[in-house]
Amino acid sequence: MQGFNKYYPPDFDGEKHGSLNSYRGKHALGDRARKLDQGILITRFELPFNIWCDTCNNHIGMGVRYNAEKKKVGMYYTTAIFSFRCKCHLCDGWFEIQTDPKNTRYVVISGARQKDEDWNPEENGGYAVHDTDASSSTVDPLAALEKTTSAQTHLTKVQMPRLDELQTVSERFNADPYALSSKVRKQFREVKKVEAAKRKADDLVKERYGLPSSLPLLEDDPDAAREAKELWEKEQAARPVKKVKVTPSTVPIVPKQPSGKNAAVSSLRARVLGNTAKLQPRR
Ligand SMILES: [Zn+2]
Repeated sequence: MQGFNKYYPPDFDGEKHGSLNSYRGKHALGDRARKLDQGILITRFELPFNIWCDTCNNHIGMGVRYNAEKKKVGMYYTTAIFSFRCKCHLCDGWFEIQTDPKNTRYVVISGARQKDEDWNPEENGGYAVHDTDASSSTVDPLAALEKTTSAQTHLTKVQMPRLDELQTVSERFNADPYALSSKVRKQFREVKKVEAAKRKADDLVKERYGLPSSLPLLEDDPDAAREAKELWEKEQAARPVKKVKVTPSTVPIVPKQPSGKNAAVSSLRARVLGNTAKLQPRR
């Protein structure tokens, strides 16, 4: 047991013993350090995935905790690889799990089988994940040469002309920025004027027919206008004609009131008729 209680016995000598732990011949980590001379520290380890014990063939669920023997077994660059040796709680078998810094995961080394529950994108309608490690592929010098040659051809046949084209375009647009700018602005102003006139006309139409101001009106199109007129005429022709029986009572009798020019014409006519009657020889 570690010196938790800080009881210093009478024969304790700080100079000689240094600490209570060393006085009692114990490690600060207590029983967990009992195999420290073999490089093993006892730690609490939680299963990161489901496994089957190879000895008893029982399924052991993810999250079950063991007092594991933790040991450094190697290095991946500057990262230590640790091994965790656990004793199955259902039998006397041991299994070993190691860290895998390269793939940032745990792997079962011996004594158990990992239940494969990894996400497989290909099985689930996704894209396959390929190993893009270039060093793993064998280098074929001829293929490499071919690759560089085709790259060269692509450069001279496609990339260079394209660069030239882009440069030409760029030069054309950057040669006289003032002239281009004023041209564009002039054009913009004209368009704006036309738009304003059109909006004014549209507003007039909307006001006349009591249309909502947010209603977009169609462009004036002679073809559309002609079509609409033809349609209207057709509909008018197809309309049933209502026959109204004219009776004397329906027609208001308006007494003729000669007025202005009409009065002069009728009086002249009366006189001419009178003269003609006088001139006719009696029978
Ligand atoms: Zn077991």
